[in-house]
Amino acid sequence: MSGSIRLFVRDPLAPGAELVLAPGQAHYLGAVMRRGAGDPVLLFNGRDGEFLACILAAEAGGRRAAARLGLRVRVEARTRAQAPGPDLWLAFALLKRDATDLVVQKATELGAAALFPVLTARTNAARVNPDRLTAIATEAAEQSERLDVPALHPPRHLAALLAGWPPDRPLFAACERAAAPPPPGLAPERPAGLLVGPEGGFTEAELDALRACPFVTLVGLGPRILRAETAALAGLVLLQAPPRA
Ligand code: SAH
Repeated sequence: MSGSIRLFVRDPLAPGAELVLAPGQAHYLGAVMRRGAGDPVLLFNGRDGEFLACILAAEAGGRRAAARLGLRVRVEARTRAQAPGPDLWLAFALLKRDATDLVVQKATELGAAALFPVLTARTNAARVNPDRLTAIATEAAEQSERLDVPALHPPRHLAALLAGWPPDRPLFAACERAAAPPPPGLAPERPAGLLVGPEGGFTEAELDALRACPFVTLVGLGPRILRAETAALAGLVLLQAPPRA
């Protein structure tokens, strides 16, 4: 169903179910995309797979009312079974708003399963707007044909991230100027994480703390100094590249 509109919903999905799309989604479908009764839409909820659904006759009041009240759809056949994505987490030092938005959007497209904003000594921002970032991740999941939306965790300090990190999940910490080897290409089912520092880089003390963690491996992303957002995307790509000989 290439080119179809895909929407993430929270409701259970099964053939025959009827549900009401949220007002924002109803506005998008009706007023922006000019879809109406009888038109198809693809739905996924991160649990049941992807389903074809059909927009039911608009209630009295038409598109305006739909945008306010929501839009009723009937779920039809399942188009894709739920399948796990890469078991890859991204921890990234919080950046300015636009750069954080970019990291969340692109990491979602690149398959990250969970996103951990991190506070470090040289991080300038301390807060995120979870609703805004969830909306960005949801939209990226819808357009990239993922079957789920990555989990967005609240910001935490680097020390807390490391203290709570599952020791059996290798964490590849991107470190410039360290002559470290590139990240390995891993099979999608292998649990792993990528950590990227802030624009100012990690401090020596932070690098020492990272080196002291048995599950951390420092990795390099080539000879140039990348912007943090570039480093996040390059690292996510390399960790999913076919294993190199
Ligand atoms: N201000 C620092 C650069 C920080 S770059 C300096 O001039 O040294 C921001 C983050 O991107 C870094 O903390 C690191 O995680 C990542 N990064 C940038 N370039 C990288 C490279 N070539 N290899 C590995 N990580 C890199």
